[in-house]
Amino acid sequence: MKPEEIERMRDEALAAFAAADSLDALQEAKVAHTGGTSPLALANREIGALPPHAKAEAGKRVGQARGAVNKALAARQAELEAERDARVLVEEAVDVTLPYDRVPAGARHPLTTLSERIEDIFVAMGYEVAEGPEVEAEWFNFDALNIGPDHPARGEHDTFFVQTASHSGSAAGSGGTESGVVLRTHTSPVQIRSLLDRELPVYAICPGRVYRTDELDATHTPVFHQVELIAVDEGLTMADLKGTLDHMVQSLFGEGMKTRLRPNFFPFTEPSAEMDMVCYVCRGESVGNPDRPCRTCSSEGWIELGGCGMVNPRVLTACGVDPEKYSGFAFGFGIERMLMFRHNVDDMRDMVEGDVRFTRPFGMEI
Ligand SMILES: [Zn+2]
Repeated sequence: MKPEEIERMRDEALAAFAAADSLDALQEAKVAHTGGTSPLALANREIGALPPHAKAEAGKRVGQARGAVNKALAARQAELEAERDARVLVEEAVDVTLPYDRVPAGARHPLTTLSERIEDIFVAMGYEVAEGPEVEAEWFNFDALNIGPDHPARGEHDTFFVQTASHSGSAAGSGGTESGVVLRTHTSPVQIRSLLDRELPVYAICPGRVYRTDELDATHTPVFHQVELIAVDEGLTMADLKGTLDHMVQSLFGEGMKTRLRPNFFPFTEPSAEMDMVCYVCRGESVGNPDRPCRTCSSEGWIELGGCGMVNPRVLTACGVDPEKYSGFAFGFGIERMLMFRHNVDDMRDMVEGDVRFTRPFGMEI
């Protein structure tokens, strides 16, 4: 084993590493010059067969050569990796000053998604979704719902009149009073239309826009949304209403939610009730517990949701339904209000101003 030969093997290895212009090429050179069958590895193996006096000398020479080769390999490896990193940085650089040219993903308005979610709950129970006109005859909006022309409830609805009733002659005249036209003040006229249009039994849910002459402020908007529900069948009772309400709040707010009914008055239901649900934040635990006050329900334990009751027999009669045979229940509530407490929205104006910064956090709920 001549010294020149060892030097030649070393120099060949160094030359091969220097010539490698990529990490792949270097890997090939590495296998060829430091692998198990490389000349230096074979030379190293031959040392064992040398006579004792030559072993030390040859071992030293081969060892130094291999050391130099490994060192050169590591240095070239580091060099090529640095080159690659620099290249990747340039190739994959993002110019953050370039103009933003993508159309941002939008989000559906939470009033729409909440309304659809409520519809889904009832469609799953066999209800159908009913719609009606927003420009509505006064008769559907009031009279058919047992709110006669002189009924005080009629005055409480701050109504937009599109066309006032024409009183041909006087009130004492021929009685030929034509119905005026209003922007519907509630979704209840759809109850009437559902009863008139459909065969009994009727199970319908009516979501939609309604109008009142309110100024836009944090808690009022002249255009808002309601969901109305009506069921008319043989043998329906208040217990069916209660069970339906409980199912709805459990579907929307989770297991264990309850509702309660408080006596109230609405012309189109009899008996009528105000419906509350257990506060979904404190679950009633803030009541009488000053250490755990609840902002959502003002520590009252209940949140008012809307109105409900058994359909007034006079309403059934107005729709040609025999109240001796059929009974029904109805309830309605505001979607804005539900959105306000379900998502802690403080200001109703946020819902109507169309600012995407409001809608976007609700995400792409489908
Ligand atoms: Zn609470």
